[in-house]
Amino acid sequence: MTIGASLAAAAAGNPKKTAFICEGRELTYGEADIAANRLANALVDHGVGPGDRVAVIAHNSLEYAVTYFGIARAGGVSLHLSARLAPDEIAHCLDRGDAVAVLCDPELADSISSTGRRLAVVSTGRDDFAAFLEAGAPEDPGREQPPDAPSSATYTGGTTGFPKGGLHTARSRLTWAEIAVHWFGLGSGEVMAVAAPMSHAAGGFIWFQPGVCVAATQVLLPKWDVPSFLAAAERCRVTATFLVPAQIALLLDHEAFEPARLSGLRKIVYGGAPAPPGLIERAAETLPRCEFIQNYGMTEIGPLVTLYREDRDRHPGALGRPSPRIECAVYAAPGSEAEPGEIGELCFRGETLMQGYVGEPDQTQAFFRGSDGWGWTGDLATRDETGLLTLVGRSGDMINSGGFNIHPAEIERVLLEMPEIDDCAVFAVSDPVFGELPVAAVVAADPSVKIAAEALLDDCAGRIARHKRPRRIIFVNEIPKNAAGKILRARLQDRYAG
Ligand code: AMP
Repeated sequence: MTIGASLAAAAAGNPKKTAFICEGRELTYGEADIAANRLANALVDHGVGPGDRVAVIAHNSLEYAVTYFGIARAGGVSLHLSARLAPDEIAHCLDRGDAVAVLCDPELADSISSTGRRLAVVSTGRDDFAAFLEAGAPEDPGREQPPDAPSSATYTGGTTGFPKGGLHTARSRLTWAEIAVHWFGLGSGEVMAVAAPMSHAAGGFIWFQPGVCVAATQVLLPKWDVPSFLAAAERCRVTATFLVPAQIALLLDHEAFEPARLSGLRKIVYGGAPAPPGLIERAAETLPRCEFIQNYGMTEIGPLVTLYREDRDRHPGALGRPSPRIECAVYAAPGSEAEPGEIGELCFRGETLMQGYVGEPDQTQAFFRGSDGWGWTGDLATRDETGLLTLVGRSGDMINSGGFNIHPAEIERVLLEMPEIDDCAVFAVSDPVFGELPVAAVVAADPSVKIAAEALLDDCAGRIARHKRPRRIIFVNEIPKNAAGKILRARLQDRYAG
């Protein structure tokens, strides 16, 4: 199977079924199939050849859905860049990716055309895109690359440096889809809201692509905000969605939220960042007819680990169990697996791994480390005797204080249990004696109540080892996080290092 063929299969069985809905417009599977052919032919006419890289920089839309399959059918490799990137980040990714053409939101077209790169720039604005498709023939040009050739890249990082694109084959992406369909229990009767960006691995290949594989109807949300999500879910009777934990929190706390408005919703798959303690339990109480499934996924490796209610009830905070389609190990050191309960780095090996980062051989080597095919996630975890994984933190976030490794998550867990604290992040500051010391940035639950830092530090004293206690508490209004809800520790370090 290839990416283009996955849409053809859905269209063959369901030509008149609504495939995609976006802001009141719709495409059936049959229409999407023909539009993808037209785009493929138009791209070929514009000089896109086998294996050429074509970037997409757009918000979720019907046009975006067509590009997924059209670029593949033209024989191209799609580079999915976030529409939120800054101009120099876009320029960097287009350079590293060696893109020959860009399909982008109309407001980006001018700035991309003026970068001086030799690129065909096509606007995904409704009329421009329709005119571009008009010029392409409606038959499949039959140029799609074989399943084991590079097919698409999605980008990660952004917390430091420039985004990195994980390049995957069609076989890898469609294995992701197979895992997602099976684990999330997706079927053709589903109405799936795509509330994460389709440019991200999670929104695009862990949610949107599996939806096409089962010929579900998908509601594409161009931008995330709670009122639009609620309105779309109500109007289209959405049955399933993928949300990052931050979106779930925003939803529950929004003044427009009423559980009755989501009465058709049966499934929320969540992941992309750790869920704060208690959030999923609160959401499950508020939406009792909804199943909550956690997925741990990664741009480089796919949807790997899933947590269902049974394990969550017994082990709140657990990550879940790995897919049998992929090898999983927790390595204390290269070649040496951690004992049950011991902290190590999560590693995966198998057909869902990326081929490498686009144009970044050094970073690719750093990810694979050796020649034995294991990908090193940078995530620290423990595994119990039954195989259940629990995430402990990121290896890069580790604080080394006087020779002791301290994981920020160990301290954050204790702070978050204190009723006075709403949110927090622990980070390292350098110290001439200890090397590094842990410092906590804290958001008060009630900003009008003055909390004594000493009281919080005393509270920590009885609950975590002495060397792990934060040496200072800094009160902040907000913890800096990226769009997926991951803490931007480097920003806190820059600000408070002195
Ligand atoms: P990205 O490839 O940008 O989606 O980032 C992948 C990283 O997000 C992983 O390596 C984890 O650190 C984090 N992550 C993804 N899913 C989860 C999850 N369910 N729980 C905790 N962290 C997660």
